[in-house]
Amino acid sequence: MNALEIRNLHASIGGEPILRGVNLIVPRGEVHALMGPNGSGKSTLSKVIAGDPTYEVTEGDVLVDGESILELEPDERARKGLYLAFQYPVEVPGVSMANFLRLALNARRAEGDEVGVMEFYNKVQRAVKELNWDENILERYLNEGFSGGEKKRSEVLQMLVLEPKYALLDETDSGLDVDALKVVSQGVNAARGPEFGALVITHYQRLLNYIVPDKVHVMYKGQIIREGPKELAVELDQRGYDWIREEVAA
Ligand code: ADP
Ligand code: MG
Ligand code: MG
Repeated sequence: MNALEIRNLHASIGGEPILRGVNLIVPRGEVHALMGPNGSGKSTLSKVIAGDPTYEVTEGDVLVDGESILELEPDERARKGLYLAFQYPVEVPGVSMANFLRLALNARRAEGDEVGVMEFYNKVQRAVKELNWDENILERYLNEGFSGGEKKRSEVLQMLVLEPKYALLDETDSGLDVDALKVVSQGVNAARGPEFGALVITHYQRLLNYIVPDKVHVMYKGQIIREGPKELAVELDQRGYDWIREEVAA
């Protein structure tokens, strides 16, 4: 099956269970939203999928197109087609955006299959345009002196150039003004297509006005407690999370 599949995933930190049996499937070609109150484990899920060694997986599996990735190093996971946009992206001093993109792209390819000059130029040009960005950005050092909005744009630019099979975008809306939000959403929507799946993790519904999800999953206390169509996000925005908490408690 062409999907990112999370099967009964349990993960702890320092012996403390955080994920308590997460089940979630994002078929390739679909964009799903993961919502839930603060502290429910959304960011933990994205870090476990990325291979962050701080977390111990105690049960369950994560599969990319039917193949388990839990034993793979983070860079190998990226080569399988995963892209993780982090809440706080790193600065890479002295490396221009263009060079970083080239390195990242080649790191995902087999030896001897490095990206050609024209192919690279075309990809990057298209991505920069898609984000209404100035080409000068390519000569700037990665994330150095970038505003919050520019960092987010940079994450989405990387995603457009790398063309992953599955992207996880965590709290992409945090700290973004409405204009930046639109630009980021534009990038995600541009990536949409039969070969691209995404899980957009957000606390608020606001982002989902621009990135309309095919499906919404709600996490609470380390489990998916509700799934539904895009309207579920609107309902959560209007009613908050308490009614779901009460339903789960009952
Ligand atoms: P969300 O992204 O939904 O807000 P998180 O995944 O950030 O939730 O956090 C889930 C729970 O795990 C919280 O109770 C948080 O305190 C705990 N947690 C997350 N990361 C760590 C960590 N590095 N050390 C200790 N506890 C953590
Ligand atoms: Mg949080
Ligand atoms: Mg979080």
